[in-house]
Amino acid sequence: MIIGIDLGTTNSLAAVWREGRAELVPNALGEVLTPSCVSLDGDGSVLVGRAARERLQTHPELSAALFKRYMGSQKTLRLGRREFRPEELSALILKSLKADAEALLGEPVTEAVITVPAYFSDAQRKATRAAGQMAGLKVERLLNEPTAAALAYGMHHRGAETRFLVFDLGGGTFDVSILELFEGVMEVRASAGDNFLGGEDFVQALVEQFMQRRNLPDRLRKDAGFMQRLAAAAEGAKRTLSVQAGATMRVHVGDEEQVLEIDEALLEQACAPLLKRLRAPVERALRDANLRSSQLDNIVLAGGATRMPLVRKLVTTMFGRFPAVDLNPDEVVALGAAVQAGLKARDAALDEVVMTDVAPYSLGVGVSVRLDEQAVSSGHFDPLIERNSPVPISRVKTYVPMQDRQSEIELQIYQGEARMVRDNIHLGTLSIALPRLPISECAVDVRFTYDVNGLLEVEAMVQKTQARETLVIEGNPGLLTEAQIAEKLQSLAELKIHPRDRMDNRTQLARAERLYEQCRGEQREWLGAQILRFERLLATQDDRAIAPGRREFESMLDQLERHTMLDGAPR
Ligand code: AMP
Repeated sequence: MIIGIDLGTTNSLAAVWREGRAELVPNALGEVLTPSCVSLDGDGSVLVGRAARERLQTHPELSAALFKRYMGSQKTLRLGRREFRPEELSALILKSLKADAEALLGEPVTEAVITVPAYFSDAQRKATRAAGQMAGLKVERLLNEPTAAALAYGMHHRGAETRFLVFDLGGGTFDVSILELFEGVMEVRASAGDNFLGGEDFVQALVEQFMQRRNLPDRLRKDAGFMQRLAAAAEGAKRTLSVQAGATMRVHVGDEEQVLEIDEALLEQACAPLLKRLRAPVERALRDANLRSSQLDNIVLAGGATRMPLVRKLVTTMFGRFPAVDLNPDEVVALGAAVQAGLKARDAALDEVVMTDVAPYSLGVGVSVRLDEQAVSSGHFDPLIERNSPVPISRVKTYVPMQDRQSEIELQIYQGEARMVRDNIHLGTLSIALPRLPISECAVDVRFTYDVNGLLEVEAMVQKTQARETLVIEGNPGLLTEAQIAEKLQSLAELKIHPRDRMDNRTQLARAERLYEQCRGEQREWLGAQILRFERLLATQDDRAIAPGRREFESMLDQLERHTMLDGAPR
């Protein structure tokens, strides 16, 4: 069975294509959003999702979040005594979603379509693919997130709309894509975005407001626990402001409670620089697609952060009309991934839709330009594949060496839009030996092939001798070899995963521990006694008593969170 997965910065979701429609997969808690968080429990077992998110505050040294931002880099994250690469942490999320889907379907899940931001680089895509492999999933396809969103809408309104702009603002990334559905072919016309802009930045903006308006000293920034509580309060306020006009941020500094009332005007002021940054990628995508905003048929919102009224207002003024909101913006990407999974499985209901995608950035080589007989200017970027070309694509260009009898050409491969290679991203180096002949006889054909998964292959061929260097791009820092992936798969398989059927109990306990840290005085003492009581109930292993006990414990925690002077706000 093949499933669709939205592997998000803050939350991940799985969906399946069943009986002619895309259906979200509930996790062990019955929820469709699984926080992209991993934590090691006291007994060394792995917790994924909400329980892990709760532990970010109580056990930051054993917990990790936001690791999607480091995919494709060499950064590792430490959980207790163990170092994890971002691919491994992502693999643990994928494993958990796989288990959820297997529980729903009652059959093994072996393949997946996984979505990635359109702006993900070659290294980030490869890392995502490796994460899938480490989770024991064959990655059928990496699908760009906005493409998935449009695909979900394309199914939804079949035949009605033709040109979509997908405005996807997630936890950590912003993507804009313009897509066209024409006679059953979904084509991406342009994509643009910002890899470092998302809902979390709005939270940071509120954190800054709080620090400034309450005149808090800079040394508090080093207090990880305090900063986490403040961020939780900011996140709560941001969400509250999506449903009502005002919110309160409360955080204790020592014994003193600091409070900040936030209304829409303050939020707008705090977030003005972020709102401004949302405009540029929209304008660039429209320019690349050669379209005016009035020529779009539908504006599709995706990503949890587009729930913010502030963002919706900006979209409405930018386009002079209301965006489509029939599908939940948190869910639309996963639903689209399931549609793609259905396409892969060749479901008859989907026969008429074909996908094409574009290369999100230009790809090329570094070249030297001869200025005159003596002077040469080096380090220029020569693109072979232009940004927004439909993929798969293959392009050849011919290059000659700078000198007679040169023994080799070293091709430096880059991605980016800048004129000089120093301002672009270096992807790798390919060397090819030359036959030591005059320049005119040493022409080399360089072929770039970019496939539907956004993976690049480079090949160089000396015309005269037909000698070929087919290439695997070298030196992509931070990428794992197949052997290393297999090794990680093994070591992850050896980790003890917290039993799925007990996740509910574990999540409520983790939540209670977080609340305990946020409470004070008598309330804290009382909560401590409740936790102990629940732990004793769990120790009885009497499932008939545990289920109602947990519900009681949970509603007590709900009440506590709603009605007390806790730091932070409801989540
Ligand atoms: P995603 O990566 O699509 O799951 O988006 C997650 C981001 O959406 C996070 O930054 C959340 O804070 C934000 N988000 C989710 N729900 C809401 C809401 N109701 N109001 C404002 N932001 C939200």
